[in-house]
Amino acid sequence: MTELHFKCKKCGEYFDCEVGKITFPIESKRPHFEKSIVCPKCGVLSMDDVELTELGQTQLSAVYISELR
Ligand SMILES: [Zn+2]
Repeated sequence: MTELHFKCKKCGEYFDCEVGKITFPIESKRPHFEKSIVCPKCGVLSMDDVELTELGQTQLSAVYISELR
């Protein structure tokens, strides 16, 4: 299980979200998360509604690198 740190673009809240398994589809520029991203205030969000924080990007990079092995 993987938690990523997000910022919600709707309410500006920072939160950690358990996204399940992360995959990196070749045809998509975006990673695919097994579970939905859920903001504590706004509920379920799409990738368009959130941005990864610096911490979140670091966490995602770590997953990406481990997937390459
Ligand atoms: Zn929100």
